Amino acid sequence: MASIDFEHIDKIYPGGTQAIFDYSLSVGDGELVAFVGPSGCGKSTLLRLLAGLETITRGTLRIDGQPVNALPPQRRNLAMVFQDYALYPHMTVRRNLEFPLKMRDLPEAEIKRLVGWVAELLSLGELLERLPKQLSGGQRQRVAMGRALVRQPAVFLMDEPLSNLDARLRVQIRAEIGELLDRTGITTIYVTHDQAEAMTLGDRVAVMDRGRLQQVAPPQELYERPANVFVAGFIGNPPMNLFPGRLVTTPAGGLNLHLGEQSLALALPDAAERWRSWSETALTVGIRPEHLRLRDPGAEGVRATVVDAEYLGHETLLHARIDGMAAPAPVLVARLAGIRPFDKGQAVGLSVDANRLHLFGADGLTLINATAEVAA
Ligand code: ADP
Repeated sequence: MASIDFEHIDKIYPGGTQAIFDYSLSVGDGELVAFVGPSGCGKSTLLRLLAGLETITRGTLRIDGQPVNALPPQRRNLAMVFQDYALYPHMTVRRNLEFPLKMRDLPEAEIKRLVGWVAELLSLGELLERLPKQLSGGQRQRVAMGRALVRQPAVFLMDEPLSNLDARLRVQIRAEIGELLDRTGITTIYVTHDQAEAMTLGDRVAVMDRGRLQQVAPPQELYERPANVFVAGFIGNPPMNLFPGRLVTTPAGGLNLHLGEQSLALALPDAAERWRSWSETALTVGIRPEHLRLRDPGAEGVRATVVDAEYLGHETLLHARIDGMAAPAPVLVARLAGIRPFDKGQAVGLSVDANRLHLFGADGLTLINATAEVAA
């Protein structure tokens, strides 16, 4: 097992594309860190740098404290699992599992022991004499995992390993992978564009955008305390509502949130005195769909017009456009319990919990995180 340190890594491809900018991250021994971000953000590049399949332009990469920039792939003791399982089609499951061990000239008895161990760990026992084409997608994925595991690598690298599976199977195999990695305690980097996958699997989640690390934190912290507007909008489904707004101090000393023509008096959390310092600054306001409620008659709220409603059975996702804002007026999504009938064009009031607001500055960084301030 091993720790991994990325230290100020840059990657510029021949031709001049810079894919990675000053990337620094330490992964602890036995930790599972999910790398997540939109397509093209540089996730696979990082994995390929780690595997030794690409050269590092600047910075130092360490495995267990030792610089490995110049170490060839086969000497890094890593195993990769990809989305295309790359099993040998003409070999049985057993032969597929044995293959990497035979390549290493291990004694027969040791090969037998390791294949037995992996077959047991992944419940592959009954599949050992089958060919890959006689397996379901999920079973093939398990064999691919097994073939990586049987080598007893110090580090697992997984690159979108579930993306060929249907939704239901993804959830099942995701749980199996999580359990397996817990049991084996192998340090793992898990690359995915799917934030839900990253959040359910990762001990920590490293969010990337355009070649830069945006934030790395345990899932709950990432969700509750996003460092910037990118992370806020990327983590969570449906995503956080983000729209322009302004804080204004009232003559009586209160604080109002201005959204276009509407003004909302904020019932401030106790710790919110410093919010006043952002008065009159153009801000991005963030509120998660589960923190919007239908307004009680007479209560403070935002007037909006129903655009659409998604009835999911246990909840309704209400899409409503804020009234009186410059076009294109932002559409808010509110997550409401149960089935609530709405008509398109219907006027609704939404109440916003000031204790749950996120406010971001012009540079996108979080200025105010009400949840954190209330908890403090
Ligand atoms: P992701 O895995 O997050 O989708 P990649 O690491 O594949 O992102 O790509 C990051 C950036 O590097 C993209 O802009 C991509 O076009 C570029 N890139 C990837 N591989 C190469 C390559 N071999 N040569 C030049 N540019 C590349």
